[in-house]
Amino acid sequence: MIVMKFGGTSVGDASAIRRTVDIIAGRAPRAPVVVLSALGGATSELLAMAAQAASGNLVSAIAQVESLRTRHLRVLYELLGDGPETNDLAADESALFDELAHLSEALSVLGHVTPRSLDAFAAVGERASAPIVVAALVRAGVVARHVDARDVMVTDAAFGRAEPREELIALAAREHVAALVRDGCVPVLGGYIGATKDGITTTLGRGGSDFSAALVGAALEAEAIEIWTDVDGLLTADPKVVEDARLIEHIRFDEAAELATFGAKVLHPSTIAPAVRRGIPVFIFNSHRPSGNGTRITFDAPRSAVRAIAGKSNVVIVKVRSHRMLAAPGILRGIFEVFERNKTSVDVVATSEVSVSLTVDDDQYLDDVVAQLRVFGDVGVERGRGIVALVGAGLGESSPTMARALAAVGDVRLHMLSLSATGINLTLIVDATEVSAIMCRLHDEFFPRRSAA
Ligand code: ADP
Ligand code: ASP
Ligand code: MG
Repeated sequence: MIVMKFGGTSVGDASAIRRTVDIIAGRAPRAPVVVLSALGGATSELLAMAAQAASGNLVSAIAQVESLRTRHLRVLYELLGDGPETNDLAADESALFDELAHLSEALSVLGHVTPRSLDAFAAVGERASAPIVVAALVRAGVVARHVDARDVMVTDAAFGRAEPREELIALAAREHVAALVRDGCVPVLGGYIGATKDGITTTLGRGGSDFSAALVGAALEAEAIEIWTDVDGLLTADPKVVEDARLIEHIRFDEAAELATFGAKVLHPSTIAPAVRRGIPVFIFNSHRPSGNGTRITFDAPRSAVRAIAGKSNVVIVKVRSHRMLAAPGILRGIFEVFERNKTSVDVVATSEVSVSLTVDDDQYLDDVVAQLRVFGDVGVERGRGIVALVGAGLGESSPTMARALAAVGDVRLHMLSLSATGINLTLIVDATEVSAIMCRLHDEFFPRRSAA
């Protein structure tokens, strides 16, 4: 059994869905379980609608609901043509958008939106895409069934970034998913969404369908987890930033996890962990070019000093300064507990005798974090920073490589610099505006342009 996840661009319109259906049909002998995203861009539109409604702009929220309804129905009729079955499915889809219109009205009356209602909004994307793809699969002769992910993906109630309850997911996956596979059916689940034990809808955070696929794969002990997307695999950098980025055919789990954490959006940062725990290989393939070899992520890829470069530009530095600070036992623990209490994860840390600098990319609870850190000393917040990460399992053993990297970065303001304890990752904290240029310079240094070679 394998898990196949298709992202938004692989189900963006009728022709993308047709390609996706062909890919799934071609894998039928390997007993696939399919995890799908919302139609490309739908989740962002849903979140924008909720914000519009809550700010009292009901007319424009409803206009957006209607345009998303029209898009789904158009894709549906384009795939399946007119007919009673299509009309039945269209009615079910339409009911989801009616639900959204009611939710919009409620939000505009309340005048604000809670994380819980935001999740109810966002989840409509995956709830709407999955039945359309199932119908297209059935039309192509594949025996397939929609499984509501909220019956399988049990999470806590941390709306917007819910934590999965893996033991409960394993039980539910056996009951709702494995049984269908045994009967020769292809189960299709929406990614990204889940529910609490009491059935309240949650989401796993943006880009979370990859994570859903890995959780389902781990729960069912799949042979492989395949992430189907719009690029040929994991590349040496984001091709939207570095034009000349090239395919990595084989990479280690720990390298891929670092790249995901530091900006390689092709994988949600939590995706690798469930696969690692079960030793399940993860593959990344291009649904627009299914004949490619893709990327294989396993424990045993050959070591290299520099495997790839990642970057992200929405980073905030938090600095805590105090003269009595670091000598005192337990201070660092106290500081980290503040971040933990406020569900804010820290990416990079650097310490000196009198200060600690930490970076975060989620500022949802930053005001609370800062207020609670003040008991340890003066707290400063620097916004507008970015991270560039050079990743390679052999990096820490090669000081000439690090010297080359710093020389290639050139004369820029470095706010922080860190080599991870495992020596796999050199991270530079720079001004956000510099991230793309630094990524390109590092890429040119370690992966020289073919035209220049
Ligand atoms: P999906 O909708 O399939 O989940 P995403 O947009 O979330 O797709 O992820 C795919 C995108 O990730 C690519 O289009 C690419 O721009 C970006 N990306 C960032 N870093 C990398 C990288 N190192 N390798 C491949 N893609 C990357
Ligand atoms: N549809 C969700 C998002 O856009 C989840 C995903 O695509 O992975 O964030
Ligand atoms: Mg994604």
